[in-house]
Amino acid sequence: TTSNPFFHTSSATEEGSLTILHLRRDNLVPVTLRRTADDGYAEGAVTNTRFGSFPHSTLIGLEWGSQVRASRVDTGSRGRKGKAAKQQDASIQIDNRLPTPDPQHDISNGCHTAAEEIGQPTRSTAVDAGSGFIHLLPPTPEAWTASLDHRTQVVYTADYSYVLQRLRVRPGSRMIEAGAGSGSFTHAAARAVFSGFPEDSHVGELKQVGKVYSYEFNVSRVGTLREEISAHGMDEIVQLTFRDVCERGFLFPIGFDTTPHAEAIFLDLPKPWEALRHLTRSSTPSESALNPDVPVHLCTFSPCIEQVMATTAYLRKNGWTEIEMIEVQNHRIDVRREQVGLKNEGLRGVNASAATVEEAVARLREKGGPWRHIQSKAERLEKLRKEAEERKLYKEGNLVHRTEPEVKTHTSYLVFAVLPVDFTDGDEEACMQQWSVDD
Ligand code: SAM
Repeated sequence: TTSNPFFHTSSATEEGSLTILHLRRDNLVPVTLRRTADDGYAEGAVTNTRFGSFPHSTLIGLEWGSQVRASRVDTGSRGRKGKAAKQQDASIQIDNRLPTPDPQHDISNGCHTAAEEIGQPTRSTAVDAGSGFIHLLPPTPEAWTASLDHRTQVVYTADYSYVLQRLRVRPGSRMIEAGAGSGSFTHAAARAVFSGFPEDSHVGELKQVGKVYSYEFNVSRVGTLREEISAHGMDEIVQLTFRDVCERGFLFPIGFDTTPHAEAIFLDLPKPWEALRHLTRSSTPSESALNPDVPVHLCTFSPCIEQVMATTAYLRKNGWTEIEMIEVQNHRIDVRREQVGLKNEGLRGVNASAATVEEAVARLREKGGPWRHIQSKAERLEKLRKEAEERKLYKEGNLVHRTEPEVKTHTSYLVFAVLPVDFTDGDEEACMQQWSVDD
């Protein structure tokens, strides 16, 4: 059976399991856990991060979501001998430049929030008493997107979750994706079409296996993504083809399956309209990449409005319907309690009790200045004192939020469209017959 860490997750980490080390909300590192290292580490395989060293032996056999403290032993530099030992294994030695755990880490990394944000549980299982810590997350498309090695711009979770549901991709769907790039969208699409492998089916039940037909014309990206697809046990779900789709379209010249017969299409390429020339219906079903029996749902992903205009112009002229452009504006909203009080009024060290407010006002008067200014500050201080008394605001702090600036969140414009099923003379006749029977 195919072992797929994304779909068949055990309850705990195992030797050989792909694990996402969650350092901070914006710092996730994928590693495959190994007890032994062939490069001279006395401790076996070790991942060194800016928050400390994590021997894999301390990470294996823990429940997903566990919090693990860094090893107290400096495995970043010691315990290695000889030339071989000096060769750094990039997949294991993540960041050796800052081997000393960051003392601020415990306070500032906000691990729980981040893990919850990508929909994963966390548990506090302190395993060692080092100073930095990480959480162990199971591999999911979301965690993979946040941790993968970017070879290109990638599609992020906020966009692909919306795209996949708009394209009605579900277990058993067949979809086309081009270009595959770094494989971020590919992983999310693979999970969406996944309906279990045939060997999981009940006896006599034939499960339709969904498939992602993915295309990419950059040879090195194809190589890397093929390795990842295999390592992640997705060979049966994702078929990656090395191809310029604008030139050569989506059909396969030889073999059992010469067409994807797709019902959903996602295009993340500079000129989607050139690829769309190859996504048409045909009276001979084997000559079309589309499923002839159902409406086909399309999404194109383009950063510039000019690309959107060219795509929609093409779609309008070529029988596509329900054409619509959407931009997903996903903002991260940082919500926290912030102490407001007298120190914000330039009176650090003064608390908001009635006596000190009076003192503070007296001090303002002593300092002099325009009466209106003193008056408004005094009023503000009085208001703060009341709030402090009534709602203990001074201690807890006001609830404030900051929204990420819009410019950071623009990724792309999404163009959606639907290509209806061809209605033939035969279909028309069938309809007429049905009506006459019903009459
Ligand atoms: N959606 C991908 C992801 O989430 O990781 C990122 C795609 S990246 C922005 C665009 C990719 O399209 C590049 O890797 C590029 O090589 C590929 N590409 C561009 N034109 C292509 C074409 N005509 N045929 C196949 N691939 C193409």
